[in-house]
Amino acid sequence: MDFLPIFLDLKKRPCAVIGGGEVAARKISLLLEAGAEVTVYAPILSETLRRWLDEKKISHVAQEFRAECLADCVLVIAATDDKAVNRLVSETAKARGIPVNVVDQPDLCTFIMPSIIDRSPVIVAVSTSGASPVLARLIRARLETLIPAGYGRLAKLVAAFRDKVKQHFKNPSHRRQFWEEVLQGHVAELVYSGQDDAAHKALQQKITSTVNNEKQIGEVYLVGGGPGDPDLLTFRALRLMQQADVVVYDRLVSPAVLELVRRDAERIYAGKERDNHAIPQEDINHLLVRLAKEGKRVVRLKGGDPFIFGRGGEEIDTLAAEGIPFQVVPGITAAAGCAAYAGIPLTHRDYAQSVVFVTGHLQDGTVNLNWKALVQPHQTIVFYMGLHGVDIICRELMKHGLPATTPVALVQQGTTRNQRVLTGDLKTLPAIVENAHVKAPTLIIVGEVIQMRERLNWFEPTAAN
Ligand code: SAH
Repeated sequence: MDFLPIFLDLKKRPCAVIGGGEVAARKISLLLEAGAEVTVYAPILSETLRRWLDEKKISHVAQEFRAECLADCVLVIAATDDKAVNRLVSETAKARGIPVNVVDQPDLCTFIMPSIIDRSPVIVAVSTSGASPVLARLIRARLETLIPAGYGRLAKLVAAFRDKVKQHFKNPSHRRQFWEEVLQGHVAELVYSGQDDAAHKALQQKITSTVNNEKQIGEVYLVGGGPGDPDLLTFRALRLMQQADVVVYDRLVSPAVLELVRRDAERIYAGKERDNHAIPQEDINHLLVRLAKEGKRVVRLKGGDPFIFGRGGEEIDTLAAEGIPFQVVPGITAAAGCAAYAGIPLTHRDYAQSVVFVTGHLQDGTVNLNWKALVQPHQTIVFYMGLHGVDIICRELMKHGLPATTPVALVQQGTTRNQRVLTGDLKTLPAIVENAHVKAPTLIIVGEVIQMRERLNWFEPTAAN
């Protein structure tokens, strides 16, 4: 190990910065965040530093570096573009035993600054010992995506309860187990979604129920799995999927998304093939309730967004009635995903000022929709579940006034490597579909915006098989 990582308490401690440019400003902002009292030694200051001086955030001594500058300071940073000055700062500081950092000159430093992920009071510092600052930044970016934004608030909540938990759980291993459940469970999720008061209450309650050995109730997460490409999941969706005890998923959830569920989680297929519901909706609702009552963390994973043609509302209605805690995690709905990956903007200043999402599901062999409302000018129409009704859809739209030449696109298995896009117009599309062996899921988009695809199409997948 070339450097020992330590965390310094600089609150109200005098620190010297030599140099008044923007590089110095970047370092100073970190010192200020740590509560240091910063004095800048430089003949002139950059605009940022002048502003901070006006705001009394820093002090300024308008002079070149001299040994006296380091008289009282506990730490010094040299950020001038004069190599000789930087060297002199380094030598002076070393002679006095003051930790010194010279920007971009590791050989002159006695300490180096890491890349930081700040979720105060939680702080993660990453260093490559000066080997590659870019690599450190890339690692940092990856960690940023793994550490929920609410971690800091979670740490504060935990700190407030530490003594209390210690009193109630004398046995250290019980205590550790308790905290593990808190930090990966319902309480943590409440903090992440900004419900700090509820989290406080839930933690209090968890202490009581654990002490009294009461059966713990689980939680259901209604998660949108997006249209297929696993990269389109939200951070929250991924985190919950990786913590689940059991996942109940639909046919629409792509295998690549399902792959990301925790290995040990039980997987329950809830089906929903057209006209062949593997489990009736009623039973799914009650299955979720039963699993949660067994104390499990249940992810109800749905294709796209759970609140768009996903019957998510019905499922959580049952949960709410039974008093089961739940959360809803939005996903990218098929219309947004397919349109993006097909190069079709759903609205466009020249072609469409509104977009409607409708179901083209056949009921009793027909599609019951308010066709008049759909055929408004300058409107894009997106049909979910419309494949089997495509003839009727095209016919009705023409009957209600859309020109036969209105462009139509059909997107099959959008956003995946099997994506196919067929385009035509209201008159030609049914025949095109008939000859093309189209597979579900497919989405139908109607409107002038489809013309844009000619220029904006960017996604040409090579099918996996
Ligand atoms: N909740 C989902 C929609 C469920 S309804 C969402 O927000 O996307 C099911 C319909 O969604 C399918 O019949 C199809 O029309 C559409 N769909 C879902 N995923 C799709 C995909 N990857 N490509 C094309 N259409 C898709």
